[in-house]
Amino acid sequence: MSFIELGLSEAIARAVTEHGYTIPTPIQTQAIPAVLAGGDLLAGAQTGTGKTAGFTLPILHRLSAAAANSATSARPIRALILTPTRELAAQVEESVRTYGKYVKLTSTVIFGGVGINPQIKLLKHGVDILVATPGRLLDHMQQGTVDLSKIEILVLDEADRMLDMGFIKDIRRILAALPKKRQNLLFSATFSDEIKTLADGLLNAPAMIEVARRNSTVEIIAQKIHPVDRDRKHPLLTHLIKTNQWSQVLVFTRTKHGANKLVEQLGKDSITALAIHGNKSQSARTRALAEFKDGSLQVLVATDIAARGIDIDQLPHVVNYDLPNIPEDYVHRIGRTGRAGATGEAVSLVCVDEHEMLKDIEKLIKRTLPKEIIAGFEPDPNARAQPIQLRSGNGNGNGGGRGRPQGRTAVAKSRPAPAAQPHGPAKTFGGNGTSRPSAPRRSGGRGR
Ligand code: AMP
Repeated sequence: MSFIELGLSEAIARAVTEHGYTIPTPIQTQAIPAVLAGGDLLAGAQTGTGKTAGFTLPILHRLSAAAANSATSARPIRALILTPTRELAAQVEESVRTYGKYVKLTSTVIFGGVGINPQIKLLKHGVDILVATPGRLLDHMQQGTVDLSKIEILVLDEADRMLDMGFIKDIRRILAALPKKRQNLLFSATFSDEIKTLADGLLNAPAMIEVARRNSTVEIIAQKIHPVDRDRKHPLLTHLIKTNQWSQVLVFTRTKHGANKLVEQLGKDSITALAIHGNKSQSARTRALAEFKDGSLQVLVATDIAARGIDIDQLPHVVNYDLPNIPEDYVHRIGRTGRAGATGEAVSLVCVDEHEMLKDIEKLIKRTLPKEIIAGFEPDPNARAQPIQLRSGNGNGNGGGRGRPQGRTAVAKSRPAPAAQPHGPAKTFGGNGTSRPSAPRRSGGRGR
């Protein structure tokens, strides 16, 4: 099946082919004809499946096939794509530009953390496709600098993550400003009751598609555990990077403070590293990501939310310096490597404090991860588990918001129900009575 056979115009298929893709991914094979048909869509797919092109390509096709339905001379915004994070917004808009190379449509991206005035100028000029994070879009709505009254197509990308990040009210306010008659596309990796409620109110007789979750296709990613003592993780990471000559490594830490500290430590080992997390300015994050992508930065250290949606082709190494406190985040993290068919490697440095977390992860992915002790870094067999610091006292953690909603269930039926989310009594960790707090994992308005 080719992109042309899916019903896309020659101009769009040519841009995709020039970008190096000739065979549509499963989500694209299903989503493209569904969106081209003009109806609403509910899609279960997570990042790494090719979902962005799955909605971008048919939107470009539909908008370029039909002239704007506007009597005014200014170019009205005809498609609105909402994403949870700034990074994802930027990447989606980059895709719109790439695939829209040969069609006469314009796009722009608006998100917080950068000046609003240049955005106002761009919006005034008029664009066909707007990619935005909810907070900044609301700012524009309040200032009257964006007109959403001619929206023909709405996309909620990574809707589950948007709700997790506390954007539901913002989304509802945005929805209220849109014309009633429009095409709605909702993409989500998981389907909680909250998402179902949102979908029920938003979608009209939607086509429903789903592709296998990453955790059922992670076979292409080699995964390994390196048991190690808590205070030996940093020397072990340096050892792994140096002996294996890893040149591009994405490292995950649990807290922003942990990310900063690790960057400093790696710097002392002459390893170039930068951190991206919610306390970094947007320009610092963009610069770190750009340097990491172009190969000038060896190590990018990220917290879970900051890394969400990062799209780096063929990222070879992902390291879990700390295991995530939400098992599903493990799957999101390792999904950064081995994307769209490429092979990758994900290693986790696990200390005694994290054994319960590891068990939860193995339960979720339905497999026991192979363990390899690195000579010189053997863990102390008598070490006792200590409480896990999920947040730094000064708000340096990822938290700060409401807890993740209950009852998240996956799209794929093969996936087991996730471990109970800590809403009621906190789950015990580390076998020593340490409790996981009520999942405070928002990043304080990252989309704004
Ligand atoms: P996404 O799920 O949209 O974040 O895309 C995941 C990765 O797959 C990105 O690096 C895309 O550029 C890449 N990709 C998208 N479509 C295809 C395709 N048809 N063939 C190969 N790679 C693709």
